[in-house]
Amino acid sequence: MLVQENVPLSPLTTLKVGGAARFFTEAKSVADVDEAASFAKSRNLPLFVLGGGSNLVIADSGWPGLVLKIGLLGVEERTEEGKTLFEVGAGEEWDRFVARAVAANCAGVECLSGIPGSVGGTPVQNVGAYGQEVAETIQSVLVFDLEDGQVRELCADACGFTYRTSVFNTTARGRYIILRVTYTLTPGGTPRIQYTDLKKHFAGWEVTPTLTDTREAVRRIRASKAMLITPGDEDCRSAGSFFKNPVLTPDQYVDLKGRAALKGLVIPSYPALESQRKVSAAWLVERSGFSKGYSSGRVGISRKHALAIVNRGEATAAEVVAMKEHIQQRVEEIWGVPLQAEPVFVGF
Ligand SMILES: Cc1cc2nc3c(=O)[nH]c(=O)nc-3n(C[C@H](O)[C@H](O)[C@H](O)COP(=O)(O)OP(=O)(O)OC[C@H]3O[C@@H](n4cnc5c(N)ncnc54)[C@H](O)[C@@H]3O)c2cc1C
Repeated sequence: MLVQENVPLSPLTTLKVGGAARFFTEAKSVADVDEAASFAKSRNLPLFVLGGGSNLVIADSGWPGLVLKIGLLGVEERTEEGKTLFEVGAGEEWDRFVARAVAANCAGVECLSGIPGSVGGTPVQNVGAYGQEVAETIQSVLVFDLEDGQVRELCADACGFTYRTSVFNTTARGRYIILRVTYTLTPGGTPRIQYTDLKKHFAGWEVTPTLTDTREAVRRIRASKAMLITPGDEDCRSAGSFFKNPVLTPDQYVDLKGRAALKGLVIPSYPALESQRKVSAAWLVERSGFSKGYSSGRVGISRKHALAIVNRGEATAAEVVAMKEHIQQRVEEIWGVPLQAEPVFVGF
């Protein structure tokens, strides 16, 4: 295992801010993961697991311990009880796997086309978009348990998936290194066309869209919002949506609706679990003085997406955090709703 020192991390992320890793290594096998874990443990170094770097804000001071980049590759495909199972190495690029599944005419992840990052990153925040989330198709996750150094398989129930949440980013945060994810897809299945933008895209089509049509549509819609990494588009220098859609209790929702009504506005909302309501974070941000294209020095809001904080070039992590806090403060003052950040903050 090759361990490098003082490796800059910003080029390994989509937001492109932050300092260096004191130590850095890449794991291509389970044995490498084991060795990296022992290296960190024996030197008492904090360990950070890096996937594709698309959901991160790295502190300007970097990471004081070991950064372990996950490079475990390989895709195995098999059929079981009419379903197609894909066992995918955590280091595989997510969108390449989606392309492969769609090309094999397997349904279940087509709406998740174009999301950057690695396969191993998808269970962490139960990645979702356009009416689908990985919790619907993940059968199990193979992990290296840092508590006892054992490799074990977690079934989907043990992963505790809810909206943008799993055990990996809550109760067991920092405990597991994801090695492989098994997805159960439906051969010959029909695409999920439930999300408004997708329905609009296909309105007027006389034939039923295929999985390939759906993948192409999702990628096109994402590109129009700078939610697809497109070389040369500076609105892509982001960590995707910076805030989660708030999930409100009935009382909180009544309060918010009242505040909106006083301004003659209606807030878009959707039913969530246990009689809660999920409301649009983008709506709240835009109506708190931060419209698309807003700039403050070297950071700003994407010109194409109200929820993406973008690095307009050479920004620091401190500037990104200041903008995040400014937005959170204004939204809470005006609407009484605390906004929760979606990316992972590393080294703060
Ligand atoms: C333009 C853009 C669009 C996006 N659109 C969406 C979207 O539509 N929906 C959505 O849900 N997200 C979206 N994201 C966020 C991001 O792409 C996803 O969260 C992605 O799954 C992160 O994966 P990653 O490999 O890049 O993880 P990283 O950013 O490298 O890491 C994120 C977290 O996962 C952990 N992690 C990563 N790999 C492993 C592993 N193998 N084992 C253990 N922990 C691991 C890291 O330690 C960290 O805590 C978007 C981001 C961008 C930049």
